[in-house]
Amino acid sequence: MVNIHPAVDNGIPRAAPGFSGGTLTCHCASDPVKVRVGAQTAHNHVCGCTKCWKPDGAIFAQIAVVGRDAVEVLENGDKLAIVNKDAPIQRYACTGCGVHMYGRIENTEHPFYGLDFVHTELSDEDGWSEPGFAAFVSSIIESGVSPDRMDAVRARLREIGLEPYDALSPPLMDAIATHVAKKSGKLGTLHV
Ligand SMILES: [Zn+2]
Ligand SMILES: [Zn+2]
Repeated sequence: MVNIHPAVDNGIPRAAPGFSGGTLTCHCASDPVKVRVGAQTAHNHVCGCTKCWKPDGAIFAQIAVVGRDAVEVLENGDKLAIVNKDAPIQRYACTGCGVHMYGRIENTEHPFYGLDFVHTELSDEDGWSEPGFAAFVSSIIESGVSPDRMDAVRARLREIGLEPYDALSPPLMDAIATHVAKKSGKLGTLHV
């Protein structure tokens, strides 16, 4: 048995039609940080990178995006601090419990500028967009998972319907490349 993440290990809950968001709460027993996400999320996935916050014992994170205008800190925002100000995604973590409440991109040139990254498992509401793939799978080795286990991990991901990729999914990699090609003026110059 390979445990991927608590939100997907026992079946993936489906998105609810018309779902319009909820409130994320950090793990602090008192004065938790609360963040309102006022819209359905998109591109939800599990992520093996070493930067995303993971719950205790999980080898993957679960993360989705939502328009930054839909994200609002409701309570105890004074407990938030940016994990790494130099990273492309500025992850706002609770200084009390370590949970990442949202990640924000401030570089307007970034392909994903305008989108915040959120962990919808921090919400009690059901109906968030369901995870659809696994990103940066090989990176779990950097977190200490033995390379010997990778066949079993990828097999388990496919079994639960999360196609494993060692970067982002092809549609997201295409979106990044399209952004770069538009900026450079290359897009549309090659007719094949
Ligand atoms: Zn906290
Ligand atoms: Zn990640």
